[in-house]
Amino acid sequence: METKCVLVTGAGRGIGKAIAIAYAKEGYQVAINYNGSEEAAKETAALCEKEGVKAKIYRCNVADFHAVEEMMKAVLTDFGSIDVLVNNSGITKDGLLLRMKEEDFDRVIQVNLKGSFNCIRHVARIMMKQRHGAIVNMSSVVGIRGNIGQMNYAASKAGVIGLTKSAAKELAPRNIRVNAIAPGFVETEMTDALSEEARRAAMEVIALKRFASAQDIANLAVFLGTDKSSYITGQTISIDGGMAM
Ligand code: NAP
Repeated sequence: METKCVLVTGAGRGIGKAIAIAYAKEGYQVAINYNGSEEAAKETAALCEKEGVKAKIYRCNVADFHAVEEMMKAVLTDFGSIDVLVNNSGITKDGLLLRMKEEDFDRVIQVNLKGSFNCIRHVARIMMKQRHGAIVNMSSVVGIRGNIGQMNYAASKAGVIGLTKSAAKELAPRNIRVNAIAPGFVETEMTDALSEEARRAAMEVIALKRFASAQDIANLAVFLGTDKSSYITGQTISIDGGMAM
């Protein structure tokens, strides 16, 4: 049986790293995208290889349309297929509305929303030829509920939900499923930046009274990328400890 391949963007650290390793544990070959964190990406690759699968790292800014096209070609050459794409890369540049700089709005949209589009756009051709595939996009509870100081991030993550539904409709006839994950608070470097006060406030609205681990999110990312979810497409699954009910 041929081994399947997953491409995970932003897989050097945080949630992406946990997703890459979770797929390796399922026997997938893993293509690890990174932008700035080369050493971390190498470490993720080594941890995947420990699971007995092939892993390779690819430096690419997902906001760069042509660079993403080149990355997809390289992954296809190296692995022979791209069966699952996990669009995980994301950034925040928070600020209250009246203080938010134009470049901070643009940058977050470029990486989070356009980056997801770029990857879907270029992987779709490959998956259409294969006549199968699954795409998992990382949204956020903030894309559903909005958040003070995160207009740029909320808009980008709401946009990811729109991308997901549209791509799901367009690609379903080609046997390609597209779903999104909407995490609440997850323990990573992104949430390390929160003040104690912000953490306490968050805890008050989380029914399960804890932040998610990256592994919690990885479990869902594997479910949505594999045949166990073969009748699910166009959905945004919240994984937030009961925050957005
Ligand atoms: P993180 O620890 O800050 O990691 C962000 C990842 O995105 C890094 O691997 C980074 O790669 C990558 N990245 C950033 N800019 C990139 C670019 N231009 N091109 C390619 N990769 C880029 O964040 P995280 O908490 O793991 O978040 C992962 C995803 O989950 C994000 O989409 C985030 O919005 C979403 N999310 C997180 C939470 C949370 O509470 N943590 C909640 C909801 C949703 P390099 O380091 O190599 O640049």
